[in-house]
Amino acid sequence: MICGASAALGGTTLRLVEATDDGARGALRDCGLGFWILGMGLLPAGLGPLASHPLMQWVLGVSALLGMLFVGSGLGSLHGRRLAPQGLLMLSLLMVLPLTVAANHDAMTYGRLFPYMLLLASVVMVWQGRDYLLRPRGLAEQLVALNCAALLVTSLARLVTTMAYVGPVRPDLMYVPEPWSTLYAVLYGVMPMYVACLLLVIVNGRLQQKLRARAAVDELTGMLNRRAVREQATELLDRQRRSRAMTAVLMLDLDRFKLVNDVHGHAAGDAVLRLASQALKTSLRQDDTLLSRYGGEEFVALVPVDDPDVARRVAERLREAVAAVDWHGELRLTPGVTVSVGMALVSGDEDLDQALLRADEALYRAKRDGRNQCQVALDAA
Ligand code: GH3
Ligand code: MG
Ligand code: MG
Repeated sequence: MICGASAALGGTTLRLVEATDDGARGALRDCGLGFWILGMGLLPAGLGPLASHPLMQWVLGVSALLGMLFVGSGLGSLHGRRLAPQGLLMLSLLMVLPLTVAANHDAMTYGRLFPYMLLLASVVMVWQGRDYLLRPRGLAEQLVALNCAALLVTSLARLVTTMAYVGPVRPDLMYVPEPWSTLYAVLYGVMPMYVACLLLVIVNGRLQQKLRARAAVDELTGMLNRRAVREQATELLDRQRRSRAMTAVLMLDLDRFKLVNDVHGHAAGDAVLRLASQALKTSLRQDDTLLSRYGGEEFVALVPVDDPDVARRVAERLREAVAAVDWHGELRLTPGVTVSVGMALVSGDEDLDQALLRADEALYRAKRDGRNQCQVALDAA
């Protein structure tokens, strides 16, 4: 009965949570439903003598098994392993039909068949949730795996003890000697509520991850935004400083971009930003560089380099990449779009803001001297 109450509360709590993606939605729906079935089926176990009625026994057994199947399907959903409806139906029939026959036979036969089905449902649950054990994404998932394992082990132990049991029929189907029956009752009592809490932690973690990723990315270009690059730049500059290596800080600004907006409209301006950012992205190695849309039509790149020559070549490569976009074919822009680049080399204790100031000064020179060119900043004082 405590297990029933715990499951009903767990299921109700899961209904209150708003899902953020299909996996989480499936998990909350299936687990919520599973806990509800479990709860509604087990709560009548507290009805006293009525609980031994064959119909009540049947409800208790069937709801426990169906509830477990749904919870297993829900757990699998978070790793893209939701049980297909046909599989769910087949497994349900496989369990319910023999139990129905046994319930019509006698209570002891029913009691002996139940732990087989319980073990089968536990195996399905562990199988559906195998990624929690094999590829857990955090402590909460490891704890879900622990719960599934505990269920499997106790189901196996229940099968063994039930087979060896000699004595009167038990309405709670727990053919397990003390103190195990009390321990199992406590375990089954807290498990649904605990698993529901863990699911909330997991779904919340996924939501946080999604929001963090969204907050770091510029919507138009898919590049890192100003805030994200500033956060990550400190780490990169520190790492370079520790290994006494240089970093090129590049500031890039599209030339006469306002004109594109004024002549061709803002939609064309947005398309130019997308194409230019794509050209920049493909010209840089992704693994150790940072590239961001820093403002309207300004981009900032941080590139680890071995010497000033390499830095100059990177700046030139980026400038050429923008100039080489097929502006006429894609957007019917004549003349095409170009970019000016200001580059500052960081080798000592200089921070990002100081380096950007120098790069900006170099960029100003590039604009003043005719645009579509790279200028290198004077060394830091
Ligand atoms: P310069 O060569 O000196 O850099 O000239 P410019 O025209 O590029 O520079 P300016 O700063 O005068 O104009 C930048 C323009 O960028 C103004 C603004 O309307 C446009 N802009 C900023 N953000 C966006 C955006 O997200 N989409 C579009 N379409 N335009 C934008
Ligand atoms: Mg600008
Ligand atoms: Mg500009």
